[in-house]
Amino acid sequence: MNKPKIVILGAGYGGLTTVAKLQKKLGVNDAHITLVNKHDYHYESTWLHEAAAGTLHHDRSRVQISSLINSAKVNFVQDTVTAIKPDEKKVELEDGDALEYDYLVVALGFEAATFGIPGLLDHALTIGSINKARQIREHIDYQFATYNNEAEPKDERLNIVVGGGGFTGIEFVGELANRIPELCKEYDIDRSKVRLIVVEGMNSIMPGFDPELIEYAMNSLEARGVEFKLGAMLKEVREDGITIEQNGEKEDIATMTTVWAAGVRANHLVEESTLEDNRGKVEVTPELRAPSHEDVFVVGDCALVWNKEIDRPYPPTAQIAMQEAEVCAHNLVALVKGGEMEKFEFINRGTVCSLGEKDAMGSIFGGKQIYGWTASFMKKVIDNRALFKIGGVGLVLKKGKFNIF
Ligand SMILES: Cc1cc2nc3c(=O)[nH]c(=O)nc-3n(C[C@H](O)[C@H](O)[C@H](O)COP(=O)(O)OP(=O)(O)OC[C@H]3O[C@@H](n4cnc5c(N)ncnc54)[C@H](O)[C@@H]3O)c2cc1C
Repeated sequence: MNKPKIVILGAGYGGLTTVAKLQKKLGVNDAHITLVNKHDYHYESTWLHEAAAGTLHHDRSRVQISSLINSAKVNFVQDTVTAIKPDEKKVELEDGDALEYDYLVVALGFEAATFGIPGLLDHALTIGSINKARQIREHIDYQFATYNNEAEPKDERLNIVVGGGGFTGIEFVGELANRIPELCKEYDIDRSKVRLIVVEGMNSIMPGFDPELIEYAMNSLEARGVEFKLGAMLKEVREDGITIEQNGEKEDIATMTTVWAAGVRANHLVEESTLEDNRGKVEVTPELRAPSHEDVFVVGDCALVWNKEIDRPYPPTAQIAMQEAEVCAHNLVALVKGGEMEKFEFINRGTVCSLGEKDAMGSIFGGKQIYGWTASFMKKVIDNRALFKIGGVGLVLKKGKFNIF
């Protein structure tokens, strides 16, 4: 009997959770499972802001894929996917090979959305991968290291602008606000010379969060020297500055560091494929399949799932990616071995936003608000739980966060 070929694209939260489930539920004779990822490691995307700020070594957030998969059941291919061809039931890889499939799981994650802002692509940094996070950390270190070594120190080296007061931007700023005093000490710079500015187009940071939580976050960050420009649209990014527009007035801010954290979109390969897309994502069926191609499942940031309660799509998060992956794996097992497919229902377990190593805020268990140490502790529990889902207790013990005091 021919074994069905299951190909999973991407070893992030969605892809690896799917693999972890499949290798438990399927035997070696049930299916050929192939996982494709551009690196030989998985990284915890939700920790990248720490690597970017330099408060966590980037190696802490990456794990060798070979240590997470059962190689008797899963074939790992390290390569970059260059095209998804659902009409031909194949995917093309950078090295020239093509992989054929009976069932495909698209879990290729996110990339920065730049909204056509002039200069953004060329002069802003983004927090999208381990290498991008390292680039940000090294860029900031370089600005501090250079400042006192120039005949005429340039203050713009010490101005850091973060575009976007959403989850990623605020988590990054929280870490950076803690790192700046260390950088100042290391490079003999007066802290008062450093500016850390959040530029947010809406009138509030963290849209969707309760006002009390937002106020808490702003107070915590302002106490550590963060400035907020709210209702301010980023108009242009240059190598040595940005232009914003706030209340109809334009303002130039001199800076040699702009980090863009204001928007993500699905991996461009989704839009370029013949999968039917909505805003660059696949609006999946309740079983998480592409409506135009039943043999293609889509999970994580490439999938669009509608939240009927508020008539808007669910935001892209690791939480939803992992829940989708579990249903996707269940449905693949049902297709391979027989059984009922499940419909996806998102269970909101709450959201906690880190504000630095020892501070956080958020809501859990049906809306209970938490702040400070409790929230920071919960955030570490959430991070460790994600590790557990993809690599069990062993991975938690190896990479987990236990610095709770
Ligand atoms: C700084 C930051 C903080 C965040 N904090 C939170 C949080 O606290 N809670 C939360 O729920 N969510 C958070 N998120 C969002 C969360 O990280 C994403 O929603 C989640 O990673 C999506 O999972 P995914 O499996 O779709 O994609 P990813 O986890 O991004 O995985 C995609 C994988 O595909 C690989 N890949 C990409 N392109 C190719 C290609 N062409 N060929 C081969 N491989 C490829 C990538 O290398 C990667 O391994 C945060 C995101 C960031 C950036």
